[in-house]
Amino acid sequence: MPARTVRFDVLTLFPEMFSGYVSQSLLKLAIQAGLVQVHLWNFRDWTHDKHNRVDDRPFGGGPGMVLMPQPVVDCVEAVRAKDETPGTVVMLTPAGRRLTQAVVAELAERPRLILLCGRYEGFDDRIRQVLDPLEISVGDYVCNGGEVPAMTVIDTVIRLVPGVLGDQESAADDSHSEPGRLEYPQFTRPREYRGLSVPEVLLGGNHQTIARWRQEQSDRRSGHGSNG
Ligand code: SAM
Repeated sequence: MPARTVRFDVLTLFPEMFSGYVSQSLLKLAIQAGLVQVHLWNFRDWTHDKHNRVDDRPFGGGPGMVLMPQPVVDCVEAVRAKDETPGTVVMLTPAGRRLTQAVVAELAERPRLILLCGRYEGFDDRIRQVLDPLEISVGDYVCNGGEVPAMTVIDTVIRLVPGVLGDQESAADDSHSEPGRLEYPQFTRPREYRGLSVPEVLLGGNHQTIARWRQEQSDRRSGHGSNG
């Protein structure tokens, strides 16, 4: 049994968008290792409407459609009850708290995240009032839906789940692991490419000198260095 499993429940109108994402690379391996679970649910399966409508026009007029409270709230309540692990409801919204590495670290402490992906003009505000979710924004721009933001949450959180990265050091060294800190530049083979050489210091095998050079480069990139 893995030490810790993080469960994601993704509530969306477009679950198929996740099929490629969950079946590739690090996330696929994390799921296979039992470190991460991703469950997909469609709000439409909770509608009471005979046409399976989940959205309607905004009161007060204006363009577009708004997600109705009933299918969304019923879906969250039913999904929450599918597992006894307490779930944190996360609403993806441009109005939310900005997703920084510090917020990612907070989310990664939680055993279960229930991610709500909006579409169209977004959620009826009573969904927020009833569910009292954590509201998270991936940045100051507007995506067409919450699916890509939800993938961003999953992608960033799983890097901090013990055992997901082969080498735990690589998350500690990552950019933003300390606020404002950017990683040093990386190089691999060949030693020379289009007239550009790998810095000599990285080829010498002196770990102390390499560590000092990397620290200087990281300082410079982060704007902390003397040449920054
Ligand atoms: N009319 C909304 C507004 O101006 O805030 C935008 C709705 S957007 C087209 C549809 C959905 O995409 C939102 O309900 C939300 O779930 C998601 N979304 C869009 N941009 C996002 C962002 N920056 N962060 C998180 N979710 C976002």
